[in-house]
Amino acid sequence: MSKIKRILIANRGEIALRIIRACKELGIKTVAVFSDVDEDGVWVQKADNSYAISGDPLEAYLNYKNLINIAMRTRCDAIHPGYGFLSESAEFARACEENDIIFIGPKAEHIALFGDKMASKTAVKKVGVPILEGTVEPVSDAKEGERIASEIGFPVIIKAAFGGGGRGMRIVYKAGEFQEFFESATNEAIKYFGKGEVFIEKYVQNPRHIEVQIVADKYGNVVHLGERDCSIQRRHQKVIEIAPSPRLNDATRKKLCETAVNAVKEIGYENVGTVEFLVDENDDFYFIEMNTRVQVEHPVTEIISGIDIIQRMIEIAGGDKLKYKQEEIVIRGYSIEFRINAENPQNNFMPAVGKITNYMAPGGPGVRLDTSVYAGYTIPPNYDSMVGKLIVYALEWDGVVRKGLRALDEFFIDGVVTNIPLHKAIITEKDFKEGKFNTSYLDEKLPTFD
Ligand code: ADP
Repeated sequence: MSKIKRILIANRGEIALRIIRACKELGIKTVAVFSDVDEDGVWVQKADNSYAISGDPLEAYLNYKNLINIAMRTRCDAIHPGYGFLSESAEFARACEENDIIFIGPKAEHIALFGDKMASKTAVKKVGVPILEGTVEPVSDAKEGERIASEIGFPVIIKAAFGGGGRGMRIVYKAGEFQEFFESATNEAIKYFGKGEVFIEKYVQNPRHIEVQIVADKYGNVVHLGERDCSIQRRHQKVIEIAPSPRLNDATRKKLCETAVNAVKEIGYENVGTVEFLVDENDDFYFIEMNTRVQVEHPVTEIISGIDIIQRMIEIAGGDKLKYKQEEIVIRGYSIEFRINAENPQNNFMPAVGKITNYMAPGGPGVRLDTSVYAGYTIPPNYDSMVGKLIVYALEWDGVVRKGLRALDEFFIDGVVTNIPLHKAIITEKDFKEGKFNTSYLDEKLPTFD
C-alpha cells in the first residue's frame, strides 16, 4: 500500500485522465486543475476535486507556486506532473520537496542533469554507454563550430542542449551551410527554451530510434520493460510508436536494455525514465538522451508487459520497493500507438482545433484509447494538437498492423481534421508492414501519400 493518499495532477488532457484512472485503481484521491479554457475537460469531472487556475491558459499550468499552494490547501501529499509542462523542471521538483510534497518522478538533481543533453552524454559515457562523437561543451562561435564539424566529419547535427520536441535541431551536410544553420538552431533554442546553448554531434544516417523503458525504486533495484521503436517521426517528432521493435535482433536488444539498466543503476536514478538510443545500419547504438518523465508512448510498453507504469511511479515515489525482478517480467506480443493529432496534413500540418461535432471511438479486442475528447467538446487552440492516442495489441506483428488499420477505420471524428488518414497510409505501406523503416522514413514517404 502506497503511503500516498491524495495526488494533485499538474497537467491536463489525456494524461490527466490517465493519472486519475491509475489513482482510482490504487484507491488514491485526486485533485485536478483546469485553466480558463479547460472547464469542459473530462479530467475536471473525473477527479475527486477540481480547481480553476486562472490567467494565461499556458502559464496557468506552469505556475508551480500556485500549483503547490493548491496542493497544500487541498492536503495532497504528492503531485504528478504528467509529461510536458512542469514534468522536467528540477526547480519544481525541488520546490515540492521543500514544501513536504512528494514529486512523483526522479530526484531534482537527475532531472537537472538529464535536462542538459551535453551533461547527460558526459555522465552516461562515464558509466560505459556509447555516445556519438561531438562536443560536450556549448559551442558559441559559428567559425569554431564549423572547424569542429569538419573535424568530426559531415554530416553533423547541431542540437539545442536544453531542447526537446525536435526543436532547435539542424542537420548540416557541408561546411558552407554551417554558419546559417548554427544561427537558426541557436535562435530557435532561445525562442523555445530560453537558453541558446547548442552543441554539435555526428549525424547518423538512417538510424532507428530505439528507447528503453526503465523502472527504478529508491533502493537500487532497476528493471527494464523492453524497448520501443519510435522511428516513425515527422521532423524528428514521434508519430507512431511500437513495442517491441519489429526488426531489432535479439542480441542488440539484450545489449541495449542491459546498457540502459546498468547506467541507471550506476547513476542512482530513481522512478521511471527512458533511455533513448539511435541504432545505425550496422546495429551499433548510441545514447542520445534520457527522458526523466512518463512518456506519451508509455502505453505500448504497458500493453506488452502488463505493467501499469503510472501506478509504479506513484508507488515508488511513496517509498515502495519494486514489485518484480527482471526475470519475472514477461514481454508478450506487439503494440502500436498512433498519435491522433487535430492537424491537417494537407495544409502543412497546421493545427485544426475546434468543436468535435460527432464522435465514435474504436473498440473491440486489443484496442485501447487514451483520450479526453468527446462529441461536443471544443479543442482549445492554446495547447498542442494531440487529442488522443490509439493503441492496439496483437500477438503477431502482421496481426497488430491489421488491427491498427481496423481500429483506425472505426475511429470517427467529425468537426475537426485529424491525421487518421495519414496513419492509415503509413501502415498500409509495404515497407512499414515489413518493418523496414528508420527515422527518415516518414519525411521521405510523405510526398508520395495523397
Ligand atoms: P528531442 O529532445 O528534441 O526529441 P532528441 O535528441 O531526442 O531530441 O532527438 C530527436 C530525434 O532527432 C531522434 O529520434 C532522431 O530522429 C533525430 N536525431 C537526434 N540526434 C541525431 C543524430 N546525432 N543523428 C541522427 N539523427 C538524430
